[in-house]
Amino acid sequence: MAGAACTTIPIAPAAGTVRTTCPYCGVGCGVIVAPSPEGGFEVRGDPAHPANRGRLCSKGSALAQTLGPEDRLRFPEIGNRRAGWDEALELVAQRFTATIDAHGPDSVAFYVSGQLLTEDYYVANKLMKGFVGSANIDTNSRLCMASTVAGHRRAFGADIVPGCYDDLEQADLVVLVGSNLAWCHPVLYQRIVAAMQARPQMRLVVIDPRRTMSAERANLHLAVRPDGDVALFNGLLAHLAATDTLDRAYIDAHTRGFEAALAAARERPRAQTAELTGLSEAELACFYTMFACTDRVVTIFSQGVNQSRHGTDKVNAIINCHLATGRIGRPGMGPFSVTGQPNAMGGREVGGLANMLAAHLDIDEPADRDRLQRFWRSPRMAVRAGLKALDLFEAIEAGRIRALWVLATNPVDSLPEADRVRRAIAACPFVVVSDVVAHNDTLPLAHVRLPSLAWGEKDGTVTNSERRISRQRAFMAAPALARADWWQLAEVARRMGFGPAFEYDGPAAIFAEHARLSDFENDGRRAFDIGAHADIDAVGYARLEPFQWPQGRGQAAVDRRFFANGGFQSADRKGRFLPVRTLDAATPDTEYSLTLNTGRVRDHWHTMTRTGRSPRLSAHIAEPFVEIHPDDARVAGIDDADIVRVESGHGQVLLRALITARQRAGSVFAPMHWNDQFASMARIGALIPSERDPVSGQPASKQTFVRITRCTMASFIFAVSRTRPRAIEAAYWSVAACDGGWRIEAALERVPSDWPGFARRLLGTTDDQPLAIYRDDVGGGFRAAASGDGRLAGALFAAPTPVAVARNWLVDRLREPAPSAPLATLLAGGPGDTGEDAGATVCACTGVGAATIAREIERGCASVDEIGRCTGAGTQCGSCRSEIGAMLAAAAPQPLAA
Ligand code: SF4
Repeated sequence: MAGAACTTIPIAPAAGTVRTTCPYCGVGCGVIVAPSPEGGFEVRGDPAHPANRGRLCSKGSALAQTLGPEDRLRFPEIGNRRAGWDEALELVAQRFTATIDAHGPDSVAFYVSGQLLTEDYYVANKLMKGFVGSANIDTNSRLCMASTVAGHRRAFGADIVPGCYDDLEQADLVVLVGSNLAWCHPVLYQRIVAAMQARPQMRLVVIDPRRTMSAERANLHLAVRPDGDVALFNGLLAHLAATDTLDRAYIDAHTRGFEAALAAARERPRAQTAELTGLSEAELACFYTMFACTDRVVTIFSQGVNQSRHGTDKVNAIINCHLATGRIGRPGMGPFSVTGQPNAMGGREVGGLANMLAAHLDIDEPADRDRLQRFWRSPRMAVRAGLKALDLFEAIEAGRIRALWVLATNPVDSLPEADRVRRAIAACPFVVVSDVVAHNDTLPLAHVRLPSLAWGEKDGTVTNSERRISRQRAFMAAPALARADWWQLAEVARRMGFGPAFEYDGPAAIFAEHARLSDFENDGRRAFDIGAHADIDAVGYARLEPFQWPQGRGQAAVDRRFFANGGFQSADRKGRFLPVRTLDAATPDTEYSLTLNTGRVRDHWHTMTRTGRSPRLSAHIAEPFVEIHPDDARVAGIDDADIVRVESGHGQVLLRALITARQRAGSVFAPMHWNDQFASMARIGALIPSERDPVSGQPASKQTFVRITRCTMASFIFAVSRTRPRAIEAAYWSVAACDGGWRIEAALERVPSDWPGFARRLLGTTDDQPLAIYRDDVGGGFRAAASGDGRLAGALFAAPTPVAVARNWLVDRLREPAPSAPLATLLAGGPGDTGEDAGATVCACTGVGAATIAREIERGCASVDEIGRCTGAGTQCGSCRSEIGAMLAAAAPQPLAA
């Protein structure tokens, strides 16, 4: 089962510090938190953690900026009033019990999250599947990696990531498929880039419809047609067979189904593969030859693969190529899924998905259900898989689910057909939401709101993308009455009459039970085995070092790979090839002719409830946007920075147009983060149809057919304000935190008749505060700056075209304890030719902007390192180095056309 070992380096932290884990992406970086001299906390990367070895990306580096008490949910609330815990928990238990009694166990549901710690997840799953007797618990990880889980189970017999992060450095060829690793898993990308610098023979191929920042260091970028991945990897399998570069010995000894998979792969000749992938035959030949001729290949895949109507088939098409070459489970080789969320993997281990049981037990196997029931001593086990996320919310809409508990997620923004989801939740008879924040788009729909612990306050474990379990440790006190999610669940379970099974005195006891279950009647049949920790106590839990599973009873913590010598988790211990058919490309209709791709930006996370609090993270990209190829923009009559309406058959959003040749013609891209808390109408989930992969149930969030039209706006606005505007009287607006206040972008359909009054309302100033104004009656512009308490209170710049002012220079004026210039001077909108305008932020850590970097390039800086020496940009977390590289490449002399 287990193969070669990877390496770990234990190093003790300095006294007075806490070692914990970053709460953002699935890399799972170790973090050291220490009190700062100013009374807050300092955050740095943990050099002892094997995932990051001291590195952090921009999000991890800015964690200290997200710890403040602002906008926390501090007390339980029933309706619109504050309640005590007893009253709130009694009400939740009573309503869930009454609903189950009246309508059966399947009339209630939990919708949980990859943000939960494993201990929270374990208790939620135990309560629903083992005590309520329903499997109606699903997780937002369904939106992230359910197709990978399904693909793993089909090929390997269990949900197992075969390799470890060291493989990414040991590979001679890294293939990134549907993964903007540079922005979404930056520390892994930095590890790959460092390995490429150390071993120049190492190659990187990026397969993505967009030329993302991950492609900046790539030897080959394949701008594949959306959903062209199955055709691409089937073509690769056919090529491996045609060139006799298969590992016949591995196929014969350890697998089943090769011939059928090859027959399916051969259905499309090379010319058709080129058509279906949108790539030239020369590009295909180049990639196929690189793959065939390189022994050490790692294929990293992520949401671009998973979030598809054919996500599971894509996963298996990739795995087929690794099985066919025996490139799995050995150093520098293997298919490697990277998860989006910090604990998506932990959720998979405790059965957080509706179609799985805890500890890799199979919900479809009566013996496994019986095993779990005996272990839990539960009164009634779920007897079948529950509803997957989209089905679950459709059941709420249909009235079949009548009580819902949402923990640590924001489905009104993140689910497909988000407007429909909002209506469904609003109509649900009883809704509980446990969350950290006081405001998000789901909380107003809850009958009961329960305050949860935030990162920094909670204790537990998470599992990263390489199967490594790490501790999250508390280092600060919880505000007011906030409590752990596991505690809330256990208290409700107790009040529902299940007390003895939920008597945990802390997360250590839950983790020990989770470990005992992994070991229970296992006999080596289930790879997920952490029985070595079955007897862990609070002291051992406090000291627990990061370790990779499996670690069975009596075994030392050793990093392992899977399947180098077979040992799959199927009944016959063989791996499975899947015959994956290449389907014809879906064709957009004439009305919605563009394909919308969605994803993350570098410095924001999910629905911004945490990163939206950080001025540093909000500086890089401060408003929602849509990337459009120049040809498509020309056809639609759209200019850069226009406000555009993006519509699908399900909803619409208003976004800023960003015209770029990085985008593939016919496709557009929009980030998933913005929502009603930060923008007027930018919930991308409202556009996405509820189409899903038939095997995994994962929504196809990256292939929505849309149309884009330019919005005619009478006036565009940029403003900075010390206070957050209460309401913005504009058709389009977005707000972003900045040092000293807020920055606002807006666009109006009609010019206000009273500009000064409009400015005062937006800036939150009163009539007695000084207001300098400049009105351009000919050009149609208006500018205003207000002061208060001897400082700048805010400034507003309006123009009939997108506003051209030095935004970051104006933001910096908000921080000044006293104005550095008279108010009227500010109305110029910039520093003139002084060179003080940094331009749009590129390096979030140092605040260095594009204008500064451009000036250094003009002065002769020719490399990212030189720019770093001159400006500091890219010298800290390193997340911006790809962008600096892209600026250098754009400024480099272009070869003359032939
Ligand atoms: Fe956190 Fe960045 Fe590491 Fe992901 S890569 S875990 S976001 S520090």
